[in-house]
Amino acid sequence: MAELKLEGSGGYVIAELSEELAAKSKLVPNIDKCFLAPVGKLTEKDMHKHFCNKCESEFDGPPKYQIEETPNEQIADGLILVERGQYICQKCSSIIGEYRVFDNK
Ligand SMILES: [Zn+2]
Repeated sequence: MAELKLEGSGGYVIAELSEELAAKSKLVPNIDKCFLAPVGKLTEKDMHKHFCNKCESEFDGPPKYQIEETPNEQIADGLILVERGQYICQKCSSIIGEYRVFDNK
């Protein structure tokens, strides 16, 4: 497990990730920046802090979830998009970043 800073469109989340997820979070291998979007939906207990660009501050604890849709839509052969949503700031509800949950059949 590693604690990483994951960038989103409106801030970042500090989360603890397995090596597998940590590798997924890097869009380009061998660069230091990690991103929220590729890692799926993180559990609240894995997210330790979040930073909101609008509040310009870092908060202890996880951001809130905002579920946008649960389409259960087939994206590719055997790959189903189950849920799409955002991580939002605890204080002002601005979007920190987004997540997607896939079911790989
Ligand atoms: Zn905020």
